[in-house]
Amino acid sequence: MRLFLKIDESYLICHTLKNSSSDRFSSKDQKSDIVALQNAAWKASELNYKFLAGSLFDNPIDVSKQFLESITRSIPEYLASLQASPEYAVIYKQTKEYLNGCEEQWSNNFEKTEKLVKSLTGIEFNDDFTVFITHPSLKNGRFIGNKTIVWGHHEDWPNYTTVYLWHEILHYYLGNTKVSHALIQFITDNELRVDLNSGTYPPFEGHHELFKVMEQSLSLWQNYLGSETKNLNELKKEIEALVDTGTKETAFKS
Ligand SMILES: [Zn+2]
Repeated sequence: MRLFLKIDESYLICHTLKNSSSDRFSSKDQKSDIVALQNAAWKASELNYKFLAGSLFDNPIDVSKQFLESITRSIPEYLASLQASPEYAVIYKQTKEYLNGCEEQWSNNFEKTEKLVKSLTGIEFNDDFTVFITHPSLKNGRFIGNKTIVWGHHEDWPNYTTVYLWHEILHYYLGNTKVSHALIQFITDNELRVDLNSGTYPPFEGHHELFKVMEQSLSLWQNYLGSETKNLNELKKEIEALVDTGTKETAFKS
């Protein structure tokens, strides 16, 4: 399995514009540089900004044929002008440096972490993935299908990127039901993190809304860790039988 870390410049710009509220920042580092690009883009065109950030279309004028034709014509030029701006040059440079750090960390950890994740899941990791990197001071992290991941986050603790890239990779193999997501959090956010950084769990890392399922199934998980023959599918069935969750897809949360 190989990961190909890339920057798609249009996506980087759109992600940076879209994530402007304070809860979307993962760190205050370089925040002023991000805000500078957002402000420059807003000043250049509020309408184009809102279009790219997905915050238009809440009134009939915004969905009229005439308006849509005009705004979609103006977007390529708007993006090109942002891409040529000094504010964006700073964001690109910081994101590229972050990408290089992610690549280095991933390759340093790969052999060890693949061995652990393989032993916990029984999965042979033969697939390659493309990872589109965004600015590390904004939150991003999702498996978006087609062996593609979008990723960017402040390194909250050592090996953060390694742990969460594995988390997103496992969404490809294990899906995104509540129980499979809780299992992914046991495997990556917790077991893998502790293996790399030492420490113990609980307390858990990960999406808080899954902590209840994780608490309910912790003893099953601990038995699984201690067993010689691991069958993740069997464990999943046991947890599904134990907790009252159904198998509803937790869309919009990855
Ligand atoms: Zn997830």
